[in-house]
Amino acid sequence: MHEIEYNNMRIKKVGVMKVCKKCQKEFNDNLTFCPFCGAENADKKLTYFEKKTAKEQDKEFIISKASIQDEDAKNAKEISADNLTVKLVTPLKKAKLLSILKIASSAIALVMLLVIGFLVANMDINKNIKLFTIMGAFLLVAVCGSLLISEIYVMLAIKKIESEDFSLRKIYYMLGPVFCYGNNVYEINTNMQCDDCNEKMHVELKDDDVYLVCNKNREHICKITKDNYILYLKDKLSINNN
Ligand SMILES: [Zn+2]
Ligand SMILES: [Zn+2]
Repeated sequence: MHEIEYNNMRIKKVGVMKVCKKCQKEFNDNLTFCPFCGAENADKKLTYFEKKTAKEQDKEFIISKASIQDEDAKNAKEISADNLTVKLVTPLKKAKLLSILKIASSAIALVMLLVIGFLVANMDINKNIKLFTIMGAFLLVAVCGSLLISEIYVMLAIKKIESEDFSLRKIYYMLGPVFCYGNNVYEINTNMQCDDCNEKMHVELKDDDVYLVCNKNREHICKITKDNYILYLKDKLSINNN
């Protein structure tokens, strides 16, 4: 373990961190392989099977951190909301229209596939062709069904953010959390880099608060409380609208 050179919050964490032998970056002691460079950081030489087990354990540990842990949230340093960026995504009307169109088209496709499957099943044709066609239709039904469900989720989420000012939600897969203001949908994101490892950070939500989480180490985490980001967003958007 290395010197204590951090503020009070970090000192507590140092006990469970270790430094990579190869790239010198700091990471969680539960991991055997460095998440930055992939180097093995075991105390002794590992056999093939030990390595395999260690890799699986690392994977499990990383997955267990996929959502913000209460303990990490509690220890997160509070930072100012001006580390957030705000970007217009789309007019609200367009987002709603697009969502309805997607729901309608996947519902129509679903019905058509069921009809085709039914017709083919009752046709007097080669058994193998029949089986093959029905299985193909079944697969497409599954795809359309999941598209339909995810689009319904998007529609309900849009309704929710529309009903409340600054109600943040993760709706779109490729974007940060979004919210509604006036007639538009906005995305919040961040340009902040991690204090500990200089990696980029991204925005996540937990219990109405915003967290900036390091892309490489989920324990590197800062917090912006709801009161702070609402004030900041109101300010920023009212200036832009004038
Ligand atoms: Zn490393
Ligand atoms: Zn970091």
